[in-house]
Amino acid sequence: MRRIAILFVVLTLAACAATTAVPTPSPAPAATAAPTTASPIAAPAVAAIAPTSAPAATPRPTAAPEPAPTTEATAPSTASGPSAASTFAFSYPIGIPGRPLGDGFFIRHGFATENTWYNPGYWHTGEDWYAQAGDTAGARVYAVAAGQVIYAGANYPGRVVIVRHAGDLYSMYGHLDPRLDVKAGQQVARGDLIGTVLRRGDKTPNHLHFEMRTFMTAGAVNGARPRYPFRCSVNCPPGPGYWPIDAPDLPGALGWRNPTHAINRRMLAPGSAGAIVVATRPVSASITLWSAPPGEGAPQALGELKLRPGQRYPLLDVRAGPEQTRTTSALSYQLWYRIQTTDGASGWVQAAVPSAFETGGDGRPSSVEFNFYPDREAS
Ligand SMILES: [Zn+2]
Repeated sequence: MRRIAILFVVLTLAACAATTAVPTPSPAPAATAAPTTASPIAAPAVAAIAPTSAPAATPRPTAAPEPAPTTEATAPSTASGPSAASTFAFSYPIGIPGRPLGDGFFIRHGFATENTWYNPGYWHTGEDWYAQAGDTAGARVYAVAAGQVIYAGANYPGRVVIVRHAGDLYSMYGHLDPRLDVKAGQQVARGDLIGTVLRRGDKTPNHLHFEMRTFMTAGAVNGARPRYPFRCSVNCPPGPGYWPIDAPDLPGALGWRNPTHAINRRMLAPGSAGAIVVATRPVSASITLWSAPPGEGAPQALGELKLRPGQRYPLLDVRAGPEQTRTTSALSYQLWYRIQTTDGASGWVQAAVPSAFETGGDGRPSSVEFNFYPDREAS
């Protein structure tokens, strides 16, 4: 019952490559970029990209990516592994009470990507989190780490909250309902409720715009002399939310960071343990278990891991891409977890999967979906 169905079918790397479903964009080094090196070892990345064909490409507001069908409707839980309680220093900014933070949501418009139907010609400086099913309005928004609320205001539309964390890192939560749960000056802990997503009433579908960055105001961005003062003026903490594609620099050069990478790289306190949980709606019904993450040695396919929603695995290690992403599509998202399976084996699995639910003008994917979320429940 609780036994994980791992079929140790040895897959050749060539066979995996043959299953690639997402077209490789012509100038896309990002497609094979490894998280920590420039080595073009592409095995997991190629396999990783294969499951991204499922989502529909329609921009309908409430359209959710179509998950792979699963026959396991129930969520078996395992008692194996250490408790993840209080070991996570960072977690995702949105969630449903009683479920892992982030579960039930996906990044419809990723960091430093273009979204052709919404704001063509601009890189996004954050992540737009949407509910996988139904309206995102009213979804609960949480502090991603301990810190101090240093800004709460604006009409973005909706309120903006900015939290300053240790090490001059800032998290920014946009399009919130005016009834906030925090005030400027207040200290917050990781997972504290900040507010809920605004029901906007304009043409844009309801969502959370979430940023991580190294500034509250920066001269050329939203400070004394904004270079591109769209949607924000002088000394405007929320910032523009976008950066022109024809600008000489990418968002990362101005201080914006890839939120998913930043959260996951900082997630586990040194020496601490944690666990991850299979998404309620994983990207595919099964994924490959690898001997190593991309760019590290020569990853071998160890077998297939069937994804049972709610299944929990001890988390042994994390690999996330750079916080200052230098590539401009969802293909730059790299998030891998090393897990222990219930039969005592271990291997690397892909947690974040680039998706063509939304795309940039060159067709590269701009959305990101998840197979796993860290085991830290929303409250
Ligand atoms: Zn946004």
